[in-house]
Amino acid sequence: MAGTWIEVDLDALVNNYQEVTKHLHPESRCMAVVKADAYGLGAVEVALALEQVGCEAFAVTKVEEGLILRMQGIKGIILVLGPSAPEEWPEAVKAELQLTISEISSIAELNKVCSDLNKEVSVQLKLETGMGRTGFRLSELEELALTLADTPRLKVMGVYTHFARAAQRDKSYTLEQYEQFKSMTSRLEELGINPIWQHVCNSAAFLDYPEWHHDFVRIGTLLIGHYPGPGFGGKLNLRDPWTAKSRIVHLREVPKGTCVGYQSIYCTKSATQLAVIPVGYADGFGLAPHFVPQGWLDFLKIIIKNFAALFGIYLSQERIDLNGRTVPVAGKIGMQLTVLDVGMQECSLGDEVRIPLRRTVANPRIQRKYKQNGRIFSERILEEGVSRVSTEYSR
Ligand SMILES: *Cc1c(COP(=O)(O)O)cnc(C)c1O
Repeated sequence: MAGTWIEVDLDALVNNYQEVTKHLHPESRCMAVVKADAYGLGAVEVALALEQVGCEAFAVTKVEEGLILRMQGIKGIILVLGPSAPEEWPEAVKAELQLTISEISSIAELNKVCSDLNKEVSVQLKLETGMGRTGFRLSELEELALTLADTPRLKVMGVYTHFARAAQRDKSYTLEQYEQFKSMTSRLEELGINPIWQHVCNSAAFLDYPEWHHDFVRIGTLLIGHYPGPGFGGKLNLRDPWTAKSRIVHLREVPKGTCVGYQSIYCTKSATQLAVIPVGYADGFGLAPHFVPQGWLDFLKIIIKNFAALFGIYLSQERIDLNGRTVPVAGKIGMQLTVLDVGMQECSLGDEVRIPLRRTVANPRIQRKYKQNGRIFSERILEEGVSRVSTEYSR
């Protein structure tokens, strides 16, 4: 019996996919972004569930992720968004992954790999318009066109770019990126490159710019039931597929003044019960991305939080749902154990609690239980501590 697990409701996921397709331009298609293990939900299970309801295209960051999907039976388009390395290309070509090209130097070599295999590869060109990450710049397009003219094994299927600030209130940067994308695609056309597909939208741009849906929209965040930022809420009828649960594995009544956890930052204010759950920051619990203030109000909030902590008041402490009531975490979250102050409410060893666990940082080893029609029908467990030791480097 697992002490901590995550229930993934595939009906909610499918609902979110259908909400997206309902609002999609009729000529566009939804490419499900299932990178990073589908943001923690489980890439294989998510892709299989979406393919069953008609999703025809998937995107991942790495070749390795794409190969897993293909091996597990995904038949649709699998686009690798990130850069890939020559040693990955033979497998990628054989598995018919679509590779993103964002470097002129890789083109001839990829063509050679395809010739050796007597195969072709579908590629998509990434254009850099303001993300500052990967992609061709306007000044490189001429050389790109010349190089592609000599590499018949590469089929240029698409051209795309990625927005840096689509989820932000100020839209001017996004508009500039789009303008840049349009002038770059016109330049490519002049140079004789006419990719079949164009796509630019992530979740935020999909919601804000129906006129930019083009041939695909690349959607991750909305599928997993989140909005890309404040100000988008309520635009779709999203459901949350994710519930993280743990159970009480230790329970004690303690007197007033009992100190809890590292640094004793928490002491009980009255007689109470302390419950231990087997989850901690090694599981991703209590971890959040570094928060960058977006203006003075945010900055003030950070100051107040830190100031309060100096006086032993923890404003950002996680709260846990126990039998329909929220209870606070007592003290610091540990590596794999966390203490809850559950008060005097009736509860027992083995009781389930719901925990706020961020999807993208949840440890992949935590058991995932997949639900459909309200029933759990499959599980995923990765064994702890299992690894193969390479002897290649031993003396
Ligand atoms: C992650 C990613 C997406 C999906 O973005 P969401 O905002 O999660 O929908 C789309 N395109 C690229 C290139 C990405 O890396």
